[in-house]
Amino acid sequence: MMLKTFKYRLYPSGAQAQQLAETVEACRRWYNLCLEERQQAWEQEKRKVGKYEQLAKVKEHRRVDPKAGKIHSHILQVVVQDLDKSFQAFFRRAKAGETPGYPRFKGRNRFDSFGLKEYGNGFKLDGRRLRITGIGRVRVRWHRKMEGEIKTLRIRRQAGQWYACFACEVEGQLLPSTGKEIGVDVGIHHLLATSDHEIVENPHWYREEESKLRVLQRRVSRRKIGGTNRQKAVMGLQGQHEHIANRRKDYLDKLANYLVTNYDRIALEDLHITGMVRNQHLSKSILDAGWGYLKQRLVDKAVEAGRQVVLVDPSYTSRTCCSCGETFAELSLADRWVACTCGLSMDRDVNAAHNILKRAGHALWGESTANRLRLPQEALPL
Ligand SMILES: [Zn+2]
Repeated sequence: MMLKTFKYRLYPSGAQAQQLAETVEACRRWYNLCLEERQQAWEQEKRKVGKYEQLAKVKEHRRVDPKAGKIHSHILQVVVQDLDKSFQAFFRRAKAGETPGYPRFKGRNRFDSFGLKEYGNGFKLDGRRLRITGIGRVRVRWHRKMEGEIKTLRIRRQAGQWYACFACEVEGQLLPSTGKEIGVDVGIHHLLATSDHEIVENPHWYREEESKLRVLQRRVSRRKIGGTNRQKAVMGLQGQHEHIANRRKDYLDKLANYLVTNYDRIALEDLHITGMVRNQHLSKSILDAGWGYLKQRLVDKAVEAGRQVVLVDPSYTSRTCCSCGETFAELSLADRWVACTCGLSMDRDVNAAHNILKRAGHALWGESTANRLRLPQEALPL
Protein backbone atom coordinates (compact mmCIF):
# COMPACT_ATOMS: atom_id res chain seq x y z
CA MET A 1 0.00 0.00 0.00
CA MET A 2 1.18 3.50 -0.74
CA LEU A 3 -0.06 7.06 -0.55
CA LYS A 4 -0.90 8.96 -3.69
CA THR A 5 -2.01 12.57 -3.85
CA PHE A 6 -4.90 13.84 -5.95
CA LYS A 7 -5.25 17.57 -6.38
CA TYR A 8 -8.42 19.39 -7.42
CA ARG A 9 -9.38 23.00 -7.90
CA LEU A 10 -11.98 24.33 -5.48
CA TYR A 11 -14.64 26.89 -6.29
CA PRO A 12 -15.72 28.28 -2.91
CA SER A 13 -18.50 30.85 -2.66
CA GLY A 14 -17.49 34.34 -1.53
CA ALA A 15 -18.40 33.54 2.07
CA GLN A 16 -16.58 30.20 1.94
CA ALA A 17 -13.45 31.80 0.48
CA GLN A 18 -13.56 34.25 3.36
CA GLN A 19 -13.80 31.34 5.84
CA LEU A 20 -10.91 29.52 4.16
CA ALA A 21 -8.75 32.64 4.36
CA GLU A 22 -9.65 33.12 8.02
CA THR A 23 -8.78 29.51 8.77
CA VAL A 24 -5.37 29.89 7.14
CA GLU A 25 -4.81 33.08 9.10
CA ALA A 26 -5.79 31.42 12.41
CA CYS A 27 -3.39 28.58 11.59
CA ARG A 28 -0.60 31.01 10.85
CA ARG A 29 -1.02 32.73 14.20
CA TRP A 30 -1.12 29.39 16.00
CA TYR A 31 2.00 28.27 14.14
CA ASN A 32 3.86 31.40 15.22
CA LEU A 33 2.67 30.99 18.83
CA CYS A 34 3.92 27.42 18.95
CA LEU A 35 7.23 28.43 17.43
CA GLU A 36 7.60 31.24 19.96
CA GLU A 37 6.91 28.84 22.81
CA ARG A 38 9.62 26.47 21.61
CA GLN A 39 12.06 29.28 21.15
CA GLN A 40 11.47 30.86 24.54
CA ALA A 41 11.59 27.58 26.43
CA TRP A 42 14.95 26.91 24.84
CA GLU A 43 16.40 30.38 25.35
CA GLN A 44 15.20 30.83 28.91
CA GLU A 45 15.29 27.32 30.35
CA LYS A 46 17.25 25.26 27.81
CA ARG A 47 14.17 23.09 27.60
CA LYS A 48 12.88 21.38 24.48
CA VAL A 49 9.14 21.63 23.91
CA GLY A 50 7.91 18.59 22.01
CA LYS A 51 5.05 17.79 19.71
CA TYR A 52 2.86 16.07 22.30
CA GLU A 53 3.18 18.89 24.77
CA GLN A 54 1.95 21.33 22.13
CA LEU A 55 -0.77 19.05 20.82
CA ALA A 56 -2.19 18.99 24.33
CA LYS A 57 -2.49 22.79 24.24
CA VAL A 58 -4.79 22.91 21.23
CA LYS A 59 -7.85 22.60 23.45
CA GLU A 60 -6.87 25.55 25.63
CA HIS A 61 -5.99 27.66 22.60
CA ARG A 62 -9.41 27.02 21.08
CA ARG A 63 -11.04 28.11 24.34
CA VAL A 64 -9.19 31.43 24.64
CA ASP A 65 -9.03 32.44 20.96
CA PRO A 66 -12.52 32.81 19.45
CA LYS A 67 -11.20 32.59 15.88
CA ALA A 68 -9.41 29.35 16.67
CA GLY A 69 -12.48 28.11 18.54
CA LYS A 70 -14.45 28.17 15.29
CA ILE A 71 -12.17 25.76 13.45
CA HIS A 72 -11.84 22.00 13.79
CA SER A 73 -9.31 20.91 16.41
CA HIS A 74 -7.60 18.58 13.93
CA ILE A 75 -6.66 21.57 11.79
CA LEU A 76 -4.76 23.10 14.71
CA GLN A 77 -3.20 19.73 15.55
CA VAL A 78 -1.90 19.45 12.01
CA VAL A 79 -0.27 22.86 12.43
CA VAL A 80 1.64 21.49 15.42
CA GLN A 81 2.67 18.45 13.38
CA ASP A 82 3.86 20.67 10.52
CA LEU A 83 5.94 22.77 12.87
CA ASP A 84 7.37 19.64 14.44
CA LYS A 85 8.35 18.35 11.01
CA SER A 86 10.25 21.52 10.23
CA PHE A 87 12.09 21.16 13.56
CA GLN A 88 12.89 17.52 12.80
CA ALA A 89 14.28 18.57 9.42
CA PHE A 90 16.27 21.31 11.10
CA PHE A 91 17.84 18.91 13.65
CA ARG A 92 18.50 16.27 11.01
CA ARG A 93 20.34 18.73 8.79
CA ALA A 94 22.27 20.21 11.71
CA LYS A 95 23.35 16.70 12.68
CA ALA A 96 24.47 16.00 9.12
CA GLY A 97 26.84 18.96 9.41
CA GLU A 98 24.86 21.30 7.17
CA THR A 99 23.96 24.81 8.24
CA PRO A 100 20.18 24.71 8.22
CA GLY A 101 17.98 27.73 8.77
CA TYR A 102 16.11 27.74 12.08
CA PRO A 103 12.33 27.43 11.52
CA ARG A 104 10.97 30.90 10.88
CA PHE A 105 8.00 32.92 11.92
CA LYS A 106 5.54 33.06 9.06
CA GLY A 107 4.43 36.36 7.62
CA ARG A 108 1.03 36.79 5.98
CA ASN A 109 2.31 35.87 2.54
CA ARG A 110 4.28 32.89 3.77
CA PHE A 111 1.51 30.67 4.96
CA ASP A 112 -1.11 29.24 2.66
CA SER A 113 -2.40 25.86 3.66
CA PHE A 114 -4.04 23.84 6.37
CA GLY A 115 -4.70 20.15 6.80
CA LEU A 116 -7.15 17.61 8.15
CA LYS A 117 -6.03 14.15 9.10
CA GLU A 118 -9.01 11.86 9.27
CA TYR A 119 -11.66 11.29 6.62
CA GLY A 120 -15.12 11.69 8.10
CA ASN A 121 -13.81 13.80 10.94
CA GLY A 122 -13.68 17.42 9.77
CA PHE A 123 -14.06 16.65 6.09
CA LYS A 124 -15.90 14.28 3.80
CA LEU A 125 -17.32 14.05 0.31
CA ASP A 126 -20.93 15.12 0.13
CA GLY A 127 -22.42 14.44 -3.28
CA ARG A 128 -20.19 16.22 -5.80
CA ARG A 129 -18.96 18.61 -3.12
CA LEU A 130 -16.40 18.59 -0.37
CA ARG A 131 -17.76 19.27 3.08
CA ILE A 132 -15.34 20.89 5.48
CA THR A 133 -16.44 21.48 9.05
CA GLY A 134 -16.85 25.19 9.73
CA ILE A 135 -16.66 26.09 6.04
CA GLY A 136 -19.47 24.20 4.37
CA ARG A 137 -20.02 22.31 1.14
CA VAL A 138 -17.44 23.55 -1.33
CA ARG A 139 -17.72 23.07 -5.07
CA VAL A 140 -14.90 20.96 -6.61
CA ARG A 141 -13.78 20.45 -10.19
CA TRP A 142 -13.19 16.69 -10.39
CA HIS A 143 -10.97 16.70 -13.46
CA ARG A 144 -9.65 13.19 -12.78
CA LYS A 145 -10.87 10.15 -10.95
CA MET A 146 -9.66 9.68 -7.41
CA GLU A 147 -8.39 6.21 -6.53
CA GLY A 148 -8.04 4.28 -3.31
CA GLU A 149 -9.11 5.26 0.15
CA ILE A 150 -8.99 8.91 1.23
CA LYS A 151 -6.78 9.39 4.28
CA THR A 152 -5.99 13.07 4.69
CA LEU A 153 -6.79 16.41 3.12
CA ARG A 154 -4.76 19.55 2.64
CA ILE A 155 -6.33 22.79 1.47
CA ARG A 156 -3.93 25.09 -0.35
CA ARG A 157 -4.07 28.62 -1.68
CA GLN A 158 -1.92 29.12 -4.76
CA ALA A 159 -1.86 32.30 -6.80
CA GLY A 160 -5.19 33.32 -5.31
CA GLN A 161 -6.93 30.01 -6.13
CA TRP A 162 -7.97 27.28 -3.72
CA TYR A 163 -7.09 23.62 -4.13
CA ALA A 164 -7.85 20.40 -2.27
CA CYS A 165 -5.10 17.76 -2.10
CA PHE A 166 -6.33 14.35 -1.01
CA ALA A 167 -3.79 11.77 0.12
CA CYS A 168 -5.22 8.37 -0.77
CA GLU A 169 -4.03 4.91 0.07
CA VAL A 170 -3.73 2.92 -3.14
CA GLU A 171 -2.28 -0.42 -4.04
CA GLY A 172 0.88 -0.32 -6.12
CA GLN A 173 0.46 -1.77 -9.59
CA LEU A 174 3.42 -3.94 -10.49
CA LEU A 175 4.36 -3.58 -14.15
CA PRO A 176 5.41 -6.62 -16.17
CA SER A 177 9.15 -7.12 -16.39
CA THR A 178 10.81 -5.87 -19.59
CA GLY A 179 14.24 -7.37 -18.93
CA LYS A 180 15.80 -4.02 -19.81
CA GLU A 181 17.90 -1.56 -17.87
CA ILE A 182 19.09 1.94 -18.62
CA GLY A 183 21.59 4.55 -17.51
CA VAL A 184 20.39 8.16 -17.54
CA ASP A 185 22.63 11.20 -17.61
CA VAL A 186 21.09 14.55 -16.76
CA GLY A 187 22.72 17.11 -18.99
CA ILE A 188 23.32 20.78 -19.17
CA HIS A 189 22.74 20.97 -22.90
CA HIS A 190 20.13 18.25 -23.09
CA LEU A 191 17.53 17.47 -20.49
CA LEU A 192 18.86 13.94 -20.47
CA ALA A 193 20.79 11.34 -22.44
CA THR A 194 20.46 7.58 -22.05
CA SER A 195 22.65 4.54 -22.54
CA ASP A 196 20.16 3.53 -25.28
CA HIS A 197 21.46 6.54 -27.21
CA GLU A 198 18.33 8.56 -26.79
CA ILE A 199 18.69 12.27 -26.22
CA VAL A 200 15.81 14.25 -24.74
CA GLU A 201 16.04 18.02 -25.16
CA ASN A 202 14.69 20.61 -22.81
CA PRO A 203 11.11 21.43 -23.79
CA HIS A 204 11.08 24.07 -26.51
CA TRP A 205 8.22 26.06 -25.04
CA TYR A 206 10.18 27.00 -21.98
CA ARG A 207 11.90 30.13 -23.33
CA GLU A 208 8.63 31.39 -24.71
CA GLU A 209 6.84 31.04 -21.39
CA GLU A 210 9.77 32.65 -19.73
CA SER A 211 9.60 35.79 -21.83
CA LYS A 212 5.93 36.11 -20.87
CA LEU A 213 7.14 35.92 -17.30
CA ARG A 214 9.49 38.83 -17.84
CA VAL A 215 6.69 40.98 -19.25
CA LEU A 216 4.54 40.28 -16.19
CA GLN A 217 7.48 40.93 -13.88
CA ARG A 218 7.99 44.36 -15.46
CA ARG A 219 4.30 45.11 -15.08
CA VAL A 220 4.54 44.44 -11.33
CA SER A 221 7.56 46.68 -10.88
CA ARG A 222 5.92 49.58 -12.74
CA ARG A 223 2.86 49.61 -10.50
CA LYS A 224 2.71 51.55 -7.28
CA ILE A 225 3.60 49.60 -4.15
CA GLY A 226 0.56 48.88 -2.00
CA GLY A 227 -1.92 49.68 -4.77
CA THR A 228 -4.74 47.46 -6.02
CA ASN A 229 -3.27 47.40 -9.51
CA ARG A 230 -0.01 46.08 -8.20
CA GLN A 231 -1.87 43.41 -6.29
CA LYS A 232 -3.56 42.38 -9.54
CA ALA A 233 -0.25 42.33 -11.39
CA VAL A 234 1.28 40.15 -8.65
CA MET A 235 -1.59 37.69 -9.09
CA GLY A 236 -0.93 37.58 -12.80
CA LEU A 237 2.75 36.93 -12.21
CA GLN A 238 2.08 34.18 -9.69
CA GLY A 239 -0.38 32.65 -12.12
CA GLN A 240 2.27 32.51 -14.83
CA HIS A 241 4.82 30.91 -12.47
CA GLU A 242 2.21 28.35 -11.61
CA HIS A 243 1.42 27.71 -15.26
CA ILE A 244 5.08 27.10 -16.11
CA ALA A 245 5.55 24.84 -13.10
CA ASN A 246 2.51 22.78 -14.10
CA ARG A 247 3.63 22.45 -17.68
CA ARG A 248 7.10 21.39 -16.61
CA LYS A 249 5.73 18.88 -14.13
CA ASP A 250 3.47 17.43 -16.78
CA TYR A 251 6.42 17.05 -19.14
CA LEU A 252 8.64 15.41 -16.53
CA ASP A 253 5.82 13.13 -15.38
CA LYS A 254 5.49 11.77 -18.91
CA LEU A 255 9.22 11.26 -19.12
CA ALA A 256 9.33 9.42 -15.79
CA ASN A 257 6.39 7.32 -16.92
CA TYR A 258 8.13 6.38 -20.12
CA LEU A 259 11.30 5.28 -18.34
CA VAL A 260 9.50 3.31 -15.64
CA THR A 261 7.25 1.57 -18.16
CA ASN A 262 10.10 0.52 -20.41
CA TYR A 263 12.90 -0.36 -18.01
CA ASP A 264 13.16 -2.65 -14.99
CA ARG A 265 16.15 -0.87 -13.64
CA ILE A 266 17.10 2.78 -14.00
CA ALA A 267 20.51 4.13 -13.00
CA LEU A 268 20.94 7.82 -12.22
CA GLU A 269 23.67 9.99 -10.84
CA ASP A 270 23.39 10.86 -7.18
CA LEU A 271 23.73 14.57 -7.87
CA HIS A 272 23.88 17.03 -5.05
CA ILE A 273 21.57 19.53 -6.53
CA THR A 274 22.10 22.26 -3.95
CA GLY A 275 25.83 22.26 -4.60
CA MET A 276 25.38 22.46 -8.32
CA VAL A 277 22.71 25.11 -8.28
CA ARG A 278 25.06 27.41 -6.46
CA ASN A 279 27.30 27.34 -9.50
CA GLN A 280 25.90 30.30 -11.48
CA HIS A 281 26.64 29.01 -14.96
CA LEU A 282 25.02 25.66 -14.49
CA SER A 283 22.18 26.72 -12.30
CA LYS A 284 19.69 27.88 -14.89
CA SER A 285 19.64 24.76 -16.99
CA ILE A 286 19.52 22.44 -14.04
CA LEU A 287 16.66 24.26 -12.42
CA ASP A 288 14.90 24.50 -15.76
CA ALA A 289 15.24 20.81 -16.20
CA GLY A 290 13.66 20.24 -12.80
CA TRP A 291 16.16 17.51 -12.03
CA GLY A 292 15.15 17.10 -8.40
CA TYR A 293 11.53 16.74 -9.37
CA LEU A 294 12.31 14.19 -12.06
CA LYS A 295 14.40 12.10 -9.70
CA GLN A 296 11.64 12.09 -7.11
CA ARG A 297 9.03 11.13 -9.69
CA LEU A 298 11.18 8.28 -10.93
CA VAL A 299 11.68 6.96 -7.43
CA ASP A 300 7.98 7.25 -6.56
CA LYS A 301 6.85 5.60 -9.76
CA ALA A 302 9.49 2.90 -9.44
CA VAL A 303 8.21 1.97 -5.99
CA GLU A 304 4.65 1.89 -7.27
CA ALA A 305 5.53 -0.29 -10.25
CA GLY A 306 8.06 -2.61 -8.61
CA ARG A 307 10.98 -1.12 -10.55
CA GLN A 308 14.41 -0.29 -9.28
CA VAL A 309 16.17 3.06 -9.26
CA VAL A 310 19.88 2.96 -8.46
CA LEU A 311 21.80 6.11 -7.60
CA VAL A 312 25.49 6.04 -8.40
CA ASP A 313 28.54 8.15 -7.67
CA PRO A 314 28.58 10.95 -10.27
CA SER A 315 32.34 11.59 -10.31
CA TYR A 316 34.12 11.28 -13.67
CA THR A 317 31.13 9.83 -15.49
CA SER A 318 31.77 12.27 -18.34
CA ARG A 319 35.51 11.90 -18.35
CA THR A 320 35.79 8.12 -18.46
CA CYS A 321 35.66 6.09 -21.66
CA CYS A 322 32.74 3.68 -21.28
CA SER A 323 34.45 1.18 -23.53
CA CYS A 324 38.01 0.87 -22.19
CA GLY A 325 37.87 2.83 -18.94
CA GLU A 326 40.52 5.36 -19.98
CA THR A 327 40.23 8.81 -18.36
CA PHE A 328 40.04 11.70 -20.81
CA ALA A 329 41.77 15.02 -20.34
CA GLU A 330 39.64 17.73 -18.70
CA LEU A 331 36.50 18.42 -20.75
CA SER A 332 34.99 21.84 -21.00
CA LEU A 333 31.23 22.26 -21.12
CA ALA A 334 31.59 23.14 -24.80
CA ASP A 335 33.05 19.73 -25.66
CA ARG A 336 30.02 17.82 -26.82
CA TRP A 337 31.74 14.79 -28.27
CA VAL A 338 34.31 12.38 -26.85
CA ALA A 339 36.76 10.30 -28.85
CA CYS A 340 39.07 7.72 -27.28
CA THR A 341 42.25 6.04 -28.47
CA CYS A 342 40.39 2.71 -28.26
CA GLY A 343 38.17 3.85 -31.12
CA LEU A 344 35.14 4.96 -29.12
CA SER A 345 33.48 8.08 -30.50
CA MET A 346 30.17 9.30 -29.14
CA ASP A 347 28.11 12.10 -27.63
CA ARG A 348 29.63 12.96 -24.30
CA ASP A 349 26.37 12.61 -22.37
CA VAL A 350 25.56 9.24 -23.92
CA ASN A 351 29.05 8.07 -22.89
CA ALA A 352 28.27 9.31 -19.37
CA ALA A 353 24.96 7.43 -19.41
CA HIS A 354 26.82 4.21 -20.24
CA ASN A 355 29.16 4.76 -17.33
CA ILE A 356 26.25 5.39 -15.00
CA LEU A 357 24.64 2.12 -16.01
CA LYS A 358 27.93 0.27 -15.55
CA ARG A 359 28.34 1.64 -12.05
CA ALA A 360 24.85 0.57 -11.12
CA GLY A 361 25.80 -2.92 -12.26
CA HIS A 362 28.84 -2.95 -10.03
CA ALA A 363 26.89 -1.60 -7.12
CA LEU A 364 24.63 -4.62 -7.23
CA TRP A 365 27.27 -7.15 -8.03
CA GLY A 366 26.43 -10.58 -6.63
CA GLU A 367 22.97 -9.58 -5.46
CA SER A 368 19.77 -10.97 -6.76
CA THR A 369 18.03 -7.96 -8.23
CA ALA A 370 14.92 -9.59 -9.60
CA ASN A 371 11.91 -7.47 -8.79
CA ARG A 372 13.44 -5.92 -5.74
CA LEU A 373 12.33 -2.50 -4.67
CA ARG A 374 15.11 -0.15 -3.91
CA LEU A 375 14.59 3.25 -2.35
CA PRO A 376 17.31 5.83 -2.84
CA GLN A 377 18.44 5.82 0.77
CA GLU A 378 19.22 2.13 0.41
CA ALA A 379 21.06 2.59 -2.88
CA LEU A 380 24.71 1.74 -2.67
CA PRO A 381 27.01 4.61 -3.56
CA LEU A 382 30.38 3.36 -4.75
ZN1 LIG B 1 38.35 4.04 -24.74
